[in-house]
Amino acid sequence: MLLHCAHARYVWNLAVEQHAHWKTGRKSAPGFAEQCRQLTEARRENEWLGSGNAVVQQQALKDFAKAKSARFLLGFGEPSWRKKYRHEGFRVIGTDRLPEYGPDGAPRLNAKGRQVMGRSVVVQKLNRRWAQVKVPGCGWVRFRLTRAELPSAKSFRVSFRNGQWHVAFAVIPESIAEPGAGEVIGIDRGVTITAALSDGRKLNCPQLTVKERSQIRKHQRRAARAPKGSEARTVEYAKVAKLKAREANRRKDWCEKTSTMLARSYDVIRFEKLNVKSMTRSAKGDVEHPGKRVRQKTGLNRAILAQGWGLLRRRTEHKAPGRVEDVPAPYTSLRCSACGWIDKNSRKSQAEFVCTFCGFTSNADENSAKNVAAGQGGIPRPRRSAGAGGVTTATGRSNAREPQPSWVGIPLF
Ligand SMILES: [Zn+2]
Repeated sequence: MLLHCAHARYVWNLAVEQHAHWKTGRKSAPGFAEQCRQLTEARRENEWLGSGNAVVQQQALKDFAKAKSARFLLGFGEPSWRKKYRHEGFRVIGTDRLPEYGPDGAPRLNAKGRQVMGRSVVVQKLNRRWAQVKVPGCGWVRFRLTRAELPSAKSFRVSFRNGQWHVAFAVIPESIAEPGAGEVIGIDRGVTITAALSDGRKLNCPQLTVKERSQIRKHQRRAARAPKGSEARTVEYAKVAKLKAREANRRKDWCEKTSTMLARSYDVIRFEKLNVKSMTRSAKGDVEHPGKRVRQKTGLNRAILAQGWGLLRRRTEHKAPGRVEDVPAPYTSLRCSACGWIDKNSRKSQAEFVCTFCGFTSNADENSAKNVAAGQGGIPRPRRSAGAGGVTTATGRSNAREPQPSWVGIPLF
């Protein structure tokens, strides 16, 4: 399978090189069909390539074609080089000719009334936990099932990272049906509490434990002391990568479970609109304009990215299409969810919210989640008009401990 990975990477990189070269030329770059013809030729000339599996190599070209056509749609830009150890994987399409069935269970027929035969992946269930899949050139490969049923997919992808093999079947699952009770939930995402719900629940994305963090630092220290290019250094860095992968896995798992829970229990799910990409921009600046508090900003960026805000929103949308809404974020954390008054001084601290107009007291995150649920951000009223309600707001800055970083225009907590 490692050889499959090497072949797929080689073919992909050839395609990248070809397209990079053609960009400067006048002729247009070869498409998928032409590349497949060239691949056959290359396999004849190159013994190493020819000894590999043709399906794996062709699928690498297909992946490239797909990446090329969706490069702006997905936001990844031009397909880039694949590196050894970092991007190891290959795609396999099914070899079994099986009849296809429509979503209603009826056999699918073509224009002549004959049943449509599709290619599907050969999988077998061994027991409750294990199954096996046929990988061309390797035979049966056992894998651990993460779902109750066997996947009926047309293709699958095998990947290798941090010493672990993964197999992923290309299946688009059905979306989760709405419960139908008309319930609306608002979600306020923050750093101290990952997701505060408008019903008062607080959900936290699991992070690495203190012990795991100190282990990471220990291995980083050892790697730094090891001589450059030594095996010891590689081993230490591999240990760091493994621990960091554990953190990412935990985050993904949490996002999956939480998004399923949200899609199952609520009809409309409202998130405050955050642009995570611009919020986590570096504060470094450039040589002429060095940034301020760069380290603090880097730490904040890491904390934001460790929460998986974007992933939670995306996965909820996948599972509950059309039921996820975005609410403009400004002032959701400063608005009183009881009377609608917006005042900076209402936010007593990171966790405490006391309305300066009506005295409504609540947890600050819960208050903003309620505003999000109501779809209310709104615009602040000018401070002078406070007198109209007979209440003068305390304009002093004594206790207004605003935890907002100056780089970001919108409240974070
Ligand atoms: Zn109020």
